[in-house]
Formats: sequence, structure tokens, C-alpha cells
Amino acid sequence: YNIAMDQAKEATKIVLAQPRGFCAGVERAVAMVERALEIFGKPIYIRHEIVHNKSVIEDLENKGAIFVEDIAEIPEGSITIFSAHGISKKVHAEAQAKNLNIFDATCPLVTKVHLEVHKFAREGRECILIGHSNHPEVEGTLGQYSTTNGGKMYLIEDLQQAETIQIANPNHLAYVTQTTLSFDDTEEIVKVLRRRFPAMKEPYKNDICYATQNRQNAVKELVEECQLVIVIGSRNSSNSNRLCELAQKLGRTSYLIDDASELRLEWLDKVSSVGVTAGASAPEKLVVDVVNRLKEWGVAEVTQAAGDKENVYFNLPTNMRRLTAASNSSPADMIATTKSN
Ligand code: SF4
Repeated sequence: YNIAMDQAKEATKIVLAQPRGFCAGVERAVAMVERALEIFGKPIYIRHEIVHNKSVIEDLENKGAIFVEDIAEIPEGSITIFSAHGISKKVHAEAQAKNLNIFDATCPLVTKVHLEVHKFAREGRECILIGHSNHPEVEGTLGQYSTTNGGKMYLIEDLQQAETIQIANPNHLAYVTQTTLSFDDTEEIVKVLRRRFPAMKEPYKNDICYATQNRQNAVKELVEECQLVIVIGSRNSSNSNRLCELAQKLGRTSYLIDDASELRLEWLDKVSSVGVTAGASAPEKLVVDVVNRLKEWGVAEVTQAAGDKENVYFNLPTNMRRLTAASNSSPADMIATTKSN
């Protein structure tokens, strides 16, 4: 063990990606749960994991948040938060039917995609969603499309499906994407769709969000100088998986880990520079733990890549901001405030 530690000590330095970790949508969603717990006390019900990170979920559970997959599991009238990934119209209607007090933590950049889908549905325009089936964001976005004006929505996941998909009305077609996809892979898929469906309407602005793009760009920089890239994020975090895949596609060894306990000393064999990044739902304290563990193993030098600065902040939703303003009122008054919103 000591021999291996010495080898690590001799050779290795850490380069931290910039930017990394929490995006504005995750900051806002986690802040909403904490604020609701402060104001109403426990329990607070959350439909689906508020963000896909094991450590964040455990922390909020310890504070009194209860995570459920189905609205049926939430008692009538409870304080309820929808996760950052967004929900379908059907789930929203179920929550309203149960008279839940709703705070919606859907990221504004997911809402932007929902609004695009509403517009296409109103126009009776067919719509392709590029995304991963079974991801909650994809379920929520598909569930925004109403077929009452004659259109239809389709999901495709890869290049092969882009080549083979049959569209009922290709001259009246648009596409949207999941926000956390690989930027480069999605471009390839869109190129195929453009070739096959030249009349297809494009989103006004790319649906892949700024945080996903910036973290992928930062990994491209990391691989220039690192032989190994550690991505901190949970297995079900889409954007974290894409970071790990990207480093691998660029020829580097890369591991996705939840926290420092999953690091392996042998990964450092013959590695002179370790890149460390974190997905958009992974808190900075997990990065600090990973760096500390690597330091315990003898890595002395820690540098931060230059990267781009991010300056994005999303306000809390109006009904939660009103609550804060009304924080001198009793919880019962505050519930009345949220319902009148
Ligand atoms: Fe919003 Fe992008 Fe963060 Fe998802 S990854 S919560 S879309 S900013």
C-alpha cells in the first residue's frame, strides 16, 4: 500500500475543471426545498428526486423531505415540490386534484422547452424530442404535448432512430431536445433530421442548457492535460454520465463516482495529471472530499483550469418569494398565499 502511495505521490497533480458542479437550476431547486422546510417544517413531499444526486437527497431526507414517485403517495393538501426535471401536464393535474400546495422547482430552462412544445402542439405541428426514454425530464416534456390540434410527438434517442423514424407530416415538423445531452452527439442527430426533413423547424435557441454545454467544454479542456478524468455525480444523473462518456470518447480513462469513498488508488498508476469535475447536481463539498482523499494519497499539487465563468442565477418562483415576504405570518396564512397565486 505504501509503495503504491509513494508512486502516486511522486507523479500526480490534480486539475479541477472550471466550471463544474451545481448549475443555477439545481441551486434554485435545492434552495426551494430548504426554504419550504424552514417555513412549514417537516414533512415536505417531493415528487421524484429533486435533483439526481445521492448526497443531496440523503441530506434533504435527514432534514425531513420525503421523496415519492407517484402523486398518489402524497397525503391530501400536503406541501409538495416538483423536481427540477419538470413534470407532465397529467402529473400536474393529479396534484391539483389532490389539493396539494404546489411549489414547482422545474428548471426555467426545462420550462422553456415545455413552452416550445406547447406552441408546436397549438400549431398542430409534429414534434420530435431528442432524449433518453424513461428520464423524468423526457417524460415531462413528452407530457406537455396536446394532440387536440392534430399533431403528434415522437421520441428519438440515437442516430439510427433519426435515420429510420417515419413522420406523418414532415412538412409541418419541429424538434426539441432534452437539456442535458451530449452537445456533439445531438448535432450529429440533428444533421440527419435536417437532411431527411428539410422543412423541419429549429428551436430559436439550443435546448441543451448552458450548464451542460459549459461542463462539456470544460472536460474537453481537461483531457488536453489529464490522462484520467474523475467525474463526481450519481449514476442516474444524465449530464454527469455525458461528461464521463465525453472524456472516454476523447481517449481518456474516466470514472463516474458518487463520492470519495469510490476512489481507487490503483487508478493513479502511471497517471501524472488527474482531472476532477462534477456534474450539475453534485455539490462542491464532494469535490473537496475527493481532493482531500487524493492529497492523503500523496498528491501535492492542485490547480484549477482557466475555463469560463458562469454568472447565471434563477429567482425562486413567485409563490415562494411571496412566502418569504410573508414569513411573519402563520403557516396557515402562508398556504392561503400560495393558493391565491
Ligand atoms: Fe437547468 Fe441545465 Fe441545470 Fe438542468 S442542468 S437544472 S436544465 S441549468
